[in-house]
Amino acid sequence: MIYLDNHATTQVDSRVFKKMIPYFTEKFNNPHSQNTIHNRDIIKQISKARLMIAKLIGAKREEIIFTSGATESNNLAIKGLKSHVLRGKNHFISLNTEHKCVLEALRKLEIEGAKVTILKVNKNGLVDPIDIEKNINKNTLLVSVMLANNETGVIQPIKEIGRICKEKNILFHTDAAQAVGKIEINVKKMNIDMMSISAHKFYGPKGIGALYVRQFPRIRLTPLIDGGGQEISLRSGTLPVPLCIGFGEAAKISMSRLRQEKERTKKLRDYFYKNLKKNIKNIFINGHISKRLPANLNISIPGINSENLIKNLKNTVISSGSACTSNNIETSYVLSGMGLSKEVVKSSIRIGIGRYTTKKDINNAIKDITDTVKKLR
Ligand SMILES: *Cc1c(COP(=O)(O)O)cnc(C)c1O
Repeated sequence: MIYLDNHATTQVDSRVFKKMIPYFTEKFNNPHSQNTIHNRDIIKQISKARLMIAKLIGAKREEIIFTSGATESNNLAIKGLKSHVLRGKNHFISLNTEHKCVLEALRKLEIEGAKVTILKVNKNGLVDPIDIEKNINKNTLLVSVMLANNETGVIQPIKEIGRICKEKNILFHTDAAQAVGKIEINVKKMNIDMMSISAHKFYGPKGIGALYVRQFPRIRLTPLIDGGGQEISLRSGTLPVPLCIGFGEAAKISMSRLRQEKERTKKLRDYFYKNLKKNIKNIFINGHISKRLPANLNISIPGINSENLIKNLKNTVISSGSACTSNNIETSYVLSGMGLSKEVVKSSIRIGIGRYTTKKDINNAIKDITDTVKKLR
């Protein structure tokens, strides 16, 4: 299998897995029970994991709230503001290319009285910060704009948006599930108040993520899950210790080789496109050419139905959009939301290069795709 679907999920790094194993078996004590010699190491390791995650994004350890993943983090960041909505500070701004969990959480809040403005991105997938500024009113509470898109890899002007939100005293949340561990992020420099993270997008385990919540000034959030008061009462429930520790290890590994990996994957990505274009002349890239994740390609192959192409590939795993919507027959709302035609959307494929992708993989994938396109044509 040549796995080029690293936006959907990534393989758990073997170093991450190794680090997790003892915490399933011999070190299974509950970290929230009374502090004893038996859970002391567990508490210490969780604290270390939290610190590694915080360091990866320029935050403090106390600002990392463990959740079950970015879906939950996005829900907490948005629905958690319910009490503000009830008090009349109820306007939200977001984009039409956001992940479904952001858009659906906003929809739910709308039923409870929120006013939601969904801005349309341009043909390149980018939002104009001025457009955000123009839509801010005296009731605006939150701007939620993703850092990097999961289909096109397009990176939004986050720093600029953060500056505007800070100036206007508005909360700024970003879904950074695709960006964390792949590009440099600093929540302080970018003026981010809340940020969603998912471990399984950067070689950590599935089922764990985090919401970074800025500590000063404290943001008042209503928890989605009530109980024993873990995670500073924002997310009750016993921590999944092995997952937390794996998440921390994944953060540590990503941080240690971030720059090298960025360059390596970008080279492979550019090589992929250049050589595929030699074989299939009329292909083109969707989304901004340079303001995108280094390992992402979203291309359209005119005249080819991408679902058909993907089904017929011999050993290459790619997708035609996000995993979350590909159960439906619905085509990419992200690409349509950029104003691209039905034909372009229907012929689009998403390629995500990852930590384990080699040049040989790329050459094999190019051959597989080229052969299959020829066959279908
Ligand atoms: C994967 C992803 C999510 C969902 O993350 P889970 O941890 O799987 O819940 C949310 N937003 C974006 C941009 C993603 O890529």
